Amino acid sequence: MRILIGGMNHESNTFNPIITGKDDFIVLHGDALFTEGLLPSYASTGIIRELQAEGCTLVPTVLARAVPNGAVSASFYQSLKDEFLNRTKAALEQGSIDGVCLALHGSMKVAGLGCAEENLLASLRSLLPDCPFTVALDMHATITPALLRLVDGFVGYKTAPHVDCLETGAHAASLLLRTIRTGKKLHTAYRRIPMLIAGEKSETEAEPMRSLIDACRRAEIEPGILAASFLLGFPWADSEYNAVSVLVTTLDNPQAGEDCAQSLADAFWVRRHDFTFRTEHYDTAAALQVAYRAVLEEEQKPVFLSDSGDNPTAGATGDATDMLERILESLDSADILPTPLLYTGFYDEPAVKKCREAGVGAALSLTIGGNWDTINGKKIALTVRVENLAEDFGPYHAVLALISYRNLRIVLSSKHIGFGDDKLLSALGINAADYCLVVVKLGYLEPCFKRIATRAIMATTKGCSNEVLEMLPYRSVCRPLYPLDRSDSPDHS
Ligand SMILES: [Zn+2]
Repeated sequence: MRILIGGMNHESNTFNPIITGKDDFIVLHGDALFTEGLLPSYASTGIIRELQAEGCTLVPTVLARAVPNGAVSASFYQSLKDEFLNRTKAALEQGSIDGVCLALHGSMKVAGLGCAEENLLASLRSLLPDCPFTVALDMHATITPALLRLVDGFVGYKTAPHVDCLETGAHAASLLLRTIRTGKKLHTAYRRIPMLIAGEKSETEAEPMRSLIDACRRAEIEPGILAASFLLGFPWADSEYNAVSVLVTTLDNPQAGEDCAQSLADAFWVRRHDFTFRTEHYDTAAALQVAYRAVLEEEQKPVFLSDSGDNPTAGATGDATDMLERILESLDSADILPTPLLYTGFYDEPAVKKCREAGVGAALSLTIGGNWDTINGKKIALTVRVENLAEDFGPYHAVLALISYRNLRIVLSSKHIGFGDDKLLSALGINAADYCLVVVKLGYLEPCFKRIATRAIMATTKGCSNEVLEMLPYRSVCRPLYPLDRSDSPDHS
């Protein structure tokens, strides 16, 4: 059996004006998928391992990944797509292809073009009209009518935070093997649930997602049901089909799939009011006051405060200044904290360049933030001291700077990366546990911070990943959509 494999992974936040380009992506070509591409956090790894274990011959194409951000550059996407197609054509010259299994996000948007997955799959489909296609998708995938037409079998992640990527890839590969070996067709039943859910309300360790995912797992042991998935859509994308979806893939048993999808959709809709924040949360100013009190009056340390509306791992710009402005307005409290207030961090390439030119120990005037998100912030001018610099950090080769201003320590990055990584702080010679108050551009805390946090407070700050979805300027999503419209009618058939 010869199976075409590859993948594209980018979560595109359409409220973020940054265009994600070539330098933001890690791209593996051809055989590099088997050498550099086998990370346990990749769904493609599960696909490769499962197919190799079953003795398939793999035809590798391209694997491209980037940190969530604004929509992807059209010219860069075109170059990726050309490579997918050229490698497919070259493989077809050497023999037939029996199936296609791809690891895709499902909410990757291309500037001026829309859904990347639809566009790629349509072109691959034209080269391979009769092959079965299966895909492993992120839980935040947006399902469109074209995707349903182009793909035979779907499997979505069942965990958020996503820790089952490998298993999901292997599952998608197993669907493909079943249809090829039996000669029976895959069918996928679909129900749209007219809802969007903020990321911090849908962790799968908590209700209601825990029970809903259990229902998917139970469905998958029913006879004939191969995969049952809830795809939540991506709340920070203003796209026509954005909503929660149920997908149920069966082998030659479409009625069982339809029944199962309907019952899962009913179960989800009934629980819609139960999606709530698990973390203590307040608006920006109130959250900051609660955090100061926790440190100064209750002597808690370290207290973590999430700047959740500007979370780069949810595709926000990482340079909104709503929280920084509130901190600068409350310097009387910040100045008397027993340790500096640590703020990690800001994506600000020009500021990092200035710090690098000035060098460690230098004092300089610069602006922080407001380069991209000019709606939820502005450039903040400060005279700061460069405390430390780190070159070539992480897979995206970021330059990091640690600067000080009065009793604040602020991390700056030259690249749009996530700040939920304690290695980023250790690269700058600091440890979050040494600080009484750590402000971080994240939603829920990553395990490295959760472990050490005495208290975690979420500020529902303004930014491109605003957790209060009702505050975002949606124009293209199909209405009604809960919670934007608080309809109680079960209209998800
Ligand atoms: Zn996701």
